[in-house]
Amino acid sequence: MRVGILAIQGDVDAHARVLDRLGASSRPVLREKDLGEIDALILPGGESTTIAKGLDRLGLYGPLASFADSGKPILGTCAGAILLAGASENHPVKTLGLIDVVAQRNAYGTQVDSFAAIADPPAHGAGKAAQELEGLRCVFIRAPQLSKIGAGVEVLLRVEGVPALVRQGNILACTFHPELGADSRVHRLLDPGA
Ligand code: GLN
Repeated sequence: MRVGILAIQGDVDAHARVLDRLGASSRPVLREKDLGEIDALILPGGESTTIAKGLDRLGLYGPLASFADSGKPILGTCAGAILLAGASENHPVKTLGLIDVVAQRNAYGTQVDSFAAIADPPAHGAGKAAQELEGLRCVFIRAPQLSKIGAGVEVLLRVEGVPALVRQGNILACTFHPELGADSRVHRLLDPGA
């Protein structure tokens, strides 16, 4: 698989290392034409205001919406999840509106309130993807929370009861940093054949 990583700002290299471990090739995405050469896309964590400004400057809001329409998987992590949301509350940024949730930025507090936690056990009757993520350790860095979860959105993981990884069709939004640490289960969700 060829996986693009939006390379405006943020944790690009760490995502590339996870993809390398999984045997997928990765490449930076900075232009519309880069989107034509990939099978899946990651929007990394970082600073959503900075990334949003870059998306505007590079004219990428429209092309990213078309990429999502094509059905190819997109994973947004932390700041990337904020950008995928329908809207962002608390210091709003211009979002892509690709998943039916609302993001609250910095919902856990400031940098010193960053933490790691083991995900809650899968809910009774949880689907296969949720079960396969059991026991995942999640690292939250000035993380957002997702609320107003739409009816078409599946919650794959919760941490302390709060949705931390959600999916709607080909769009995955993750409030933590799955690229940190040795566990690549979240990235594996990008592979429709897995
Ligand atoms: N707090 C950042 C924002 O609101 C996100 C932090 C992160 O991606 N680790 O954009």
